[in-house]
Order: sequence, then structure tokens, then C-alpha cells
Amino acid sequence: MLIDTHAHLNFNAYKADSEEVIKRTLENDIWVINIGTKYETSKKAVEIAEKYERGVYAAIGLHPIHLNAGLVKMKLDQEETAFNSREESFDYEKYKELVHSTGSGQAKSKVVAIGEIGLDYYWKPKTRRKLELFKEKQREALLKQLDLAYELNLPVIFHCRMAHKDLINLLKENPEIRPQKAVAHGFVGNLEELKEYLNFGYYIGFNGIIFKSIEGIVFEENIESTPLDKILIETDCPYLTPPQIEGRNEPLYLKYIVEKIAKIKNISYEEIAEITTKNAKKLFNL
Ligand SMILES: [Zn+2]
Repeated sequence: MLIDTHAHLNFNAYKADSEEVIKRTLENDIWVINIGTKYETSKKAVEIAEKYERGVYAAIGLHPIHLNAGLVKMKLDQEETAFNSREESFDYEKYKELVHSTGSGQAKSKVVAIGEIGLDYYWKPKTRRKLELFKEKQREALLKQLDLAYELNLPVIFHCRMAHKDLINLLKENPEIRPQKAVAHGFVGNLEELKEYLNFGYYIGFNGIIFKSIEGIVFEENIESTPLDKILIETDCPYLTPPQIEGRNEPLYLKYIVEKIAKIKNISYEEIAEITTKNAKKLFNL
């Protein structure tokens, strides 16, 4: 069994066939957590999860890229189309309601985390003043969402792109709302940054980006340096399709991530599957 701890089957890329994709996911003994990136996709993730008794879960949150507020002109290439929407601000109560919206009569909420939330400095405003404003907006929304995670006692799924220093400092400066349980999803950073997250007790999520080459990042070293009991696996589908496959990604292709990690850690596929499943169940209380 495997658990895809970061998928977006709630996105339009699966509008026509999400049920079929989920069916083959579950039939192949894979569980999945669909991650919200704004209110609409968070709500969708919850609605999908509530259709299934087990194996399909949701995370809710406002991704920093939706806070842009016209500060940055984003190039809407294929990877960014999901973020092609107007800005949002974080509405604490509205998101909180999603956790308890279980109209399905299921006893336990299918919302297993707050995420994906964090900081993203990939798209930068051109002027210094706008850049400061942009960063401040992200920081404010993140702090509010950490409050919500704290109130609901839910783990956090961090998205962080080119902003590890600021995220790590923010977490150090706010120990009262620093989550006890969290994952640095799709981790792209250096060893020093990796160790900071591990020191917080956080999990590290690896996805298909490990097959790419990114300047200054050594994925093999990051995987080697992450203890087995801190590794989570994810697809981040529909994005980051492993090179063995073409087109849209989906939870079935998680196996390529497992294979790669098994090779680097020099242990069996089955052992990686078992330990990462155990880790995901523990973090998200599945
Ligand atoms: Zn994502």
C-alpha cells in the first residue's frame, strides 16, 4: 500500500474523470490526500473526500500565490494555470466551517490538515516597495492559517518556494503557533534548510521534482539525509509527472518516487512503501 500525501484531484485537470482516477487509485491500494489551494479548491477537496468511506482525504488552505493581488504579472504557462484566478484573502471562519461540513454523516472530519500554506517568492514584483508588500501579505495569511491549525489541532502542509530562510525564521519567531506536526511538501532546498525542518520535528515530502535538475539542489543528498521515519511521498499531480510517463500525473505514478527513494536509500521498494505509509498515517491521523 502507498499514500499519496499531496495530490490535486480536486483541480480542473480531473474535471472529466476524477471518479475514474480515484477508482483506479484505490483499486491499486493507494490512498490519497487532495490539497486545497484556495477556498474553492479546498471545498472541492472536502466534497470529494466525503464521497468515500476511507482512503480519500482533504487538506484546506490558501496557497501564497493567490495573495499576489496584482503585484506580480504571472506567466500563465501550463504549470501555473491552476493559479490563474483572482486574488483571495484568508477568511478564517469560512475555512473553519469546511472542517465541520461533513454532511455525509461520517463521524470524523475528512479534513486531515491545513495546507498548502506557506511562502512563495518565485514570482517577484519589480519594485522594492511592492516586493515588501507582497512578502508582508504572505506572512500575514500564513500566520492566520497557523492560528487555525493550532485551534483545530491539525498538522500543516507547508508550501515553500525560494523562501526557506523567511519561513524558518517565521517559525522560530512564533513558537506559540509553530505547528508541532507538519511536512515540508515537495522539498526543494539545501541541506542546511532540510536540517532546520527536521529539527522542528517535521516530515519531508518528496515528489517528481527529484527527477529534475535544479541549480544548487542535490536531491539525492536530501533524501540520504532524511531519516526513513521522516519521509513522505507525494505526486503533486497533475504536475511533476515522472520522466517515465508522459502527460498528466496521477497517484498511480507514485511508484516511481518510491523506486527512486529505495535506490538512494539502498533498501527495498516494499520497505519504503511500508514506512512512508506508516509515516503518513501517523502525521495525518488516518
Ligand atoms: Zn500542491
